Amino acid sequence: MSTTSFSRLALPDALLTNLDSLGYRAMTPVQARALPAALEGRDVLAQAQTGSGKTAAFGLALLARLNLASTRVQGLVLCPTRELAEQVSEALRGLARQLANVKVLTLCGGAPFGPQLASLEHGAHIVVGTPGRVEDHLRKGTLDLGGLAALVLDEADRMLDMGFQAAIDDIVAQTPARRQTLLFSATYPAEAAEGGLAGFTRGLLREPHIVRVADAHSEATIEQHFYSLRERSATDEAARLAALRRLLLHYRPESGVVFCNTKRDTHAVADDLNAAGMSALALNGDLEQKDRERILVMFANRSVTLLVATDVAARGLDIDGVDAVFNLEIARELDVHTHRVGRTGRAGESGVACTLVSDKDRYRLLQLGEKLGVDYEPEPLPEIEDARPLCAPMATLQLGAGKKDKLRPGDILGALTGDGGIAGDQVGKIKVLARSAYVAVARGVAAQALARLEQDRIKGRNVRVRRVSR
Ligand code: AMP
Repeated sequence: MSTTSFSRLALPDALLTNLDSLGYRAMTPVQARALPAALEGRDVLAQAQTGSGKTAAFGLALLARLNLASTRVQGLVLCPTRELAEQVSEALRGLARQLANVKVLTLCGGAPFGPQLASLEHGAHIVVGTPGRVEDHLRKGTLDLGGLAALVLDEADRMLDMGFQAAIDDIVAQTPARRQTLLFSATYPAEAAEGGLAGFTRGLLREPHIVRVADAHSEATIEQHFYSLRERSATDEAARLAALRRLLLHYRPESGVVFCNTKRDTHAVADDLNAAGMSALALNGDLEQKDRERILVMFANRSVTLLVATDVAARGLDIDGVDAVFNLEIARELDVHTHRVGRTGRAGESGVACTLVSDKDRYRLLQLGEKLGVDYEPEPLPEIEDARPLCAPMATLQLGAGKKDKLRPGDILGALTGDGGIAGDQVGKIKVLARSAYVAVARGVAAQALARLEQDRIKGRNVRVRRVSR
């Protein structure tokens, strides 16, 4: 048995067989180091980024120690954003699939109270939520944490950055003193801004088992490059955009994220890349939820090659398989740089992170090098061997029906591939939401697939269909 095999852990069989079915063959470094202590009931303080497998690290610890006979809330996971909370809930449900009747409830702001109250009345084993909304429920007396066995703080550094300290303190005060606390943070507390996380963790954790793997992990799987940018002041922006296009053509990612420091830049960059024939969409705080959702679906299903994002918009996103990250400029804060770079090279896959550095950003590069103990020297921009623009392999069709209409992925697949239809291997990811659904098809057959869905009746009725990607 290898040292990273899950079977060396004290996990119930139902969890172990399920891990196998999820394709988790070996523990990631953060899992291998955090899980043994967490399963013994110890407090854990772990430095781990999105993509390191941290959700399963705390998720398995929570699930293994649940008492399913009780319907009291035994596990509470606090997350900085609603999106992350929803992803964590979904991941926990996936991990718990073969345990009977585990109830995981999401409590986030922005959603109506009514359904949350009804679900709380039915009882939940694990609550995942944002600090503000969890605090609201405690204040109203609709959530009782008196039986809490374990508290998880996910992306604790982000929660502090976002001003949630008071809410977290309030929540902690209502949990039993004899609870287990698992704290995950992308930055290591001692390095975080003075005061902040270090003081915060001291009051929360009891003799924590400390796990620091993020640096080793990212160094091993993420290749970092810094490219020097020669700017003439009048053409600053044009020079940067031209350099970015050159990096993209050199690395040719199938899925890449371009980070910008401002919303304005996300628009300018996405416009420039599209004008150059590439497939890029801006992801920023101006988007409505449904547009944001559509963009993320298209990125995940390979209909869009590049997301051009601000840090806020990209926070907490769970996007697998990002081959490369490009920084239009070095982030204003160095921790943010680490977060950005951590978007690629996830769960053991390799990735590339490229940052454009002009002469006036050199001091920040020096600071970063000092902090990480590496001497980064900017390289000249690479040569381009293949100048064809980056094209996405898939296209996305949106259907105007969803779960509420009892539409399932199989119905869409059937309608597309039924007699005389397109081949099954031309169909990519299918995502069915409440009132709409998205299906990815190979670009070459997109028109045919669209025509087919327009003509077909799905579940006995005509469904509105449109192509939402290029
Ligand atoms: P996280 O850091 O929790 O956001 O996880 C990143 C991704 O890695 C998720 O898509 C997980 O499903 C996946 N993952 C987590 N643990 C493992 C593992 N041991 N083996 C393979 N994939 C994993």
